[in-house]
Amino acid sequence: MAPSSGHCIFCDLIQGAGEVSICYEDATAIAFLDIQPVNAGHVLVVPREHYEVLQDIPAHVGTHLYQVATRLIPSVQTASGATDMNIVVNSGAAAGQNVMHYHIHLIPRVQGDGFDVPLPFPGSPMPHREQLDAMAARIGSLLRDPLSDREMKKERRRASDLE
Ligand code: AMP
Ligand code: ZN
Repeated sequence: MAPSSGHCIFCDLIQGAGEVSICYEDATAIAFLDIQPVNAGHVLVVPREHYEVLQDIPAHVGTHLYQVATRLIPSVQTASGATDMNIVVNSGAAAGQNVMHYHIHLIPRVQGDGFDVPLPFPGSPMPHREQLDAMAARIGSLLRDPLSDREMKKERRRASDLE
């Protein structure tokens, strides 16, 4: 998928049109400090080209971003005095993505810092195994044959329109 256009704060930063604190850059990726860090040393790893979500990104770029993130983690932890790290991607608006230019959050953590990504989510029910199996089978079959699922849905819609 081609990079999408439109105004984007991260594209502005990458093009030098704004203050940014860069800790790593190469031809494909850039990493800079989050302007409103959860903890000191909160870094964003960002592709230079504008893509919204991981599935829009060419495989070699996606792989590279995770290589950069992996390389940065020990230095970010040492610099920030953190013992641990949340590696977070908010993918899409409903998932909390505010800047629609793909990025990986590296969030340094120390015990008792008050930040939390609570999983399992408190109160979430545990489905029956059959439901988990059915979902796993559905995902697997879509992976193998996305077209047939789309056709099936179209067929179902056509059938319900005729009712
Ligand atoms: P997300 O909600 O996952 O899209 O995260 C967007 C992140 O970008 C937030 O943590 C913001 O604090 C951060 N952010 C927004 N504008 C800037 C900026 N100009 N420089 C650095 N970080 C920014
Ligand atoms: Zn952008």
